[in-house]
Amino acid sequence: MNEKKELKKVEQYIEQCMKCGFCTYFCPVYQEEKVETSVARGKNYLIKLALQGQQEFTEEMGKIVGKCLLCKRCVVNCPAKAQIDRVVVGARAQMVNEKGLGFIKNLAFRKIMSDRKRFTRYLKLAKAFQWLLPKTEGNIRHLPDFLKALGAGRNIPELAKTFLRDMVKPVYEPQSKDKPVMKVGFFMGCATDFIYPEIGLKLIDFLTKRNVEVVVPKDQNCCGAPIYFSGDFLTGRLIADMNVEAFKEVDTIVTACATCSSTLKEYEKYLAETEEQKQKYANFGKKIKDSLEFIVKTLKVDPKNLKVRKEFHGKTVTWHDPCHLVRYQDIKDEPRSILKNLDGIKYVEMPNADLCCGMGGSFSIYHYDLTKRIAKKKLDGIKATGADIVVTACPGCMINLIDNVLQNRMPQRVYHIVELFE
Ligand code: SF4
Ligand code: SF4
Ligand code: SF4
Repeated sequence: MNEKKELKKVEQYIEQCMKCGFCTYFCPVYQEEKVETSVARGKNYLIKLALQGQQEFTEEMGKIVGKCLLCKRCVVNCPAKAQIDRVVVGARAQMVNEKGLGFIKNLAFRKIMSDRKRFTRYLKLAKAFQWLLPKTEGNIRHLPDFLKALGAGRNIPELAKTFLRDMVKPVYEPQSKDKPVMKVGFFMGCATDFIYPEIGLKLIDFLTKRNVEVVVPKDQNCCGAPIYFSGDFLTGRLIADMNVEAFKEVDTIVTACATCSSTLKEYEKYLAETEEQKQKYANFGKKIKDSLEFIVKTLKVDPKNLKVRKEFHGKTVTWHDPCHLVRYQDIKDEPRSILKNLDGIKYVEMPNADLCCGMGGSFSIYHYDLTKRIAKKKLDGIKATGADIVVTACPGCMINLIDNVLQNRMPQRVYHIVELFE
């Protein structure tokens, strides 16, 4: 019997919560809404009832389990270390099993995103029509009123003129004639591929300058975060298997997207059902390095030897911790060890640097007003630094920070940390 299969898989985590309520203080959603169903304790209680057969997966219940950023602030601050992120994702998967994915997600995940070539074709088509959206500045456009379902007035970056996959070579040799120090695979991720190819090219250049050989398999897909965090484990596994296969020739895989690196590391946790899958995904996870982890811990780059691009000389810079970097991967010292020691910029620590920016993937589509309210606290932290530049390491956070900075007419501009370097 597969009844409540996905909930049973997370039962041990459901049982962890002792209802103390500490999470109410840390949950960004609860802090805005002040209702019990927003916070880990309330969600866990309802999901426990569902496991016991006393709560149906109604539309209302779907909204409750959907309204979570998966930011893990509750998890790291919980005295019992209750893993509500796993419970919430398990509940979403259970809902998909019982109720199906729904038309839009079925189309997006199973028909489009699972097939990278088709996904790319659709995005190229969308690119041809993006001139219809009014420009805000540079390569940022905003959504007009008739698209208010996606967030009226929301600033979104343009799709890149040329996608990264259409620019990259399959192999990049190290720039010096010396024997390569190592060979790595480069994982693009959707945002770097389709919106910010310059980040991908910059990281490849950074690595090859340091004598690393970089291969870029074209058969790589999305990391799967929006898909399996929505509870579609079936498509999640399909995509995971494509990525495992695409990178089978390398032992190390580097990415500039914090959400991608944490997602790729966690296939085993969420998607493995059989022993074979456990082994396969665990081995794959061990290959993954976020760019900052790789630069600081593997390459041991001395920040004193890094040259800051001229346009950033004399600027004050602050750092935003992506949830998927700081809480999912415990990477917080690495960016600071670089930024504090760079010649040419002044680094200022942001108050509450690890506060979620409010994006949470599709959370920001369904709850855009809430996203803006949560982002407001982030903006207060940015303002307090007096910084000219905010750097981070997740293109998803960049998209949301840029939107909110512009909506609030703030002067700061947002970059990926690798963009700082010559
Ligand atoms: S999730 Fe953790 S912090 Fe929240 S009520 Fe349960 S035990 Fe307490
Ligand atoms: S993961 Fe974040 S948004 Fe979700 S319940 Fe925990 S603190 Fe709240
Ligand atoms: S994390 Fe987001 S941007 Fe990165 S590959 Fe996954 S879906 Fe794409």
